[in-house]
Amino acid sequence: MKRLTHAALALGGLIATACASVSSESAPAPASTAPEWRLVIHGGAGVILPGSMTPEMEAAYITALNVSLEAGAAVLRAGGSALDAVEAAVLTMEDDALFNAGHGAVFTASGTHELDASIMDGRDRNAGAVAGVMRVKNPVLAARAVMEKSEHVMFAAEGADAFAQAQGLEMVENAYFDTDRRREALERVLQERARTAADRHGTVGAIALDRGGNLAAATTTGGMTAKAAGRVGDAPLIGAATYAENGVCAVSATGHGEYFIRVGVAKTICDRVKLAGEDVKTAAGAALDEVAALGGDGGVIVLSGEGDYGFVFNAAGMYRGWIDASGSGTAIYGEDDAE
Ligand code: ASP
Repeated sequence: MKRLTHAALALGGLIATACASVSSESAPAPASTAPEWRLVIHGGAGVILPGSMTPEMEAAYITALNVSLEAGAAVLRAGGSALDAVEAAVLTMEDDALFNAGHGAVFTASGTHELDASIMDGRDRNAGAVAGVMRVKNPVLAARAVMEKSEHVMFAAEGADAFAQAQGLEMVENAYFDTDRRREALERVLQERARTAADRHGTVGAIALDRGGNLAAATTTGGMTAKAAGRVGDAPLIGAATYAENGVCAVSATGHGEYFIRVGVAKTICDRVKLAGEDVKTAAGAALDEVAALGGDGGVIVLSGEGDYGFVFNAAGMYRGWIDASGSGTAIYGEDDAE
């Protein structure tokens, strides 16, 4: 594992951290040494402070991030598509109760689970999404099925579950998503109404560049703890949490969804890259400045058509990692701590 290099930025009075680097500690790879393939992931941003977790928990997150990185990398190493890689990477996190996606999804205020997911193929900007699903085990697979097996981009609620079932995807009872940890979080949030939203969320996402130069992005979440039934965040919205366009950029976001929707974060980043010629980290910093100015927090992972990548967030920490043929790295807190 290589150590991530961070450059701290001040965004909206909060700490933001941009992590760059690949083979060297100091600078992003120049275009001439663009990677053959690369995968970048996140497992949610929020109030994740050093000392807030036991060493065992910390190790479990790092292991889970590496499992995800390896799942996606296996696809890319073998010459598979960026689309298959992002799906493989987020699937492992959907199945891991550590993350607020799939099995570990948070509870709504009504004590149920409503999950959101989206996926986008940078080759043709085809995209699929589901919002408020309650029974499909892996929402990212439902999002992909919407993209590939329907003429639509998004299905919601019962119709989305019915569509997933008709496609032969594995269905579960809503209680499959119950975990003690998330139930305790719900009880805490319901009791302490004054809490900020910052410690109520989490999401997972992946972006990838494949050997063919194609980009893809995927984002999947349980949303925010104690969200109102029917509330939909940014994760299933193409242009808010997810975007991919070949030659431009791929983005997956995590954070307080209402703000990410209002800024249109993922599309704003890609437009700044495409129209203003900004590098992906500068563009991401500008979009997160807008989120912070409105009062929101969270983060993004970004990857350019040439493989330059960054982690930019204005929350205390973000579970994150990268992998390519030269190595890999993971980190959790705002300060560089990964190996
Ligand atoms: N963006 C997600 C939502 O608002 C939550 C998160 O990423 O933490 O539903």
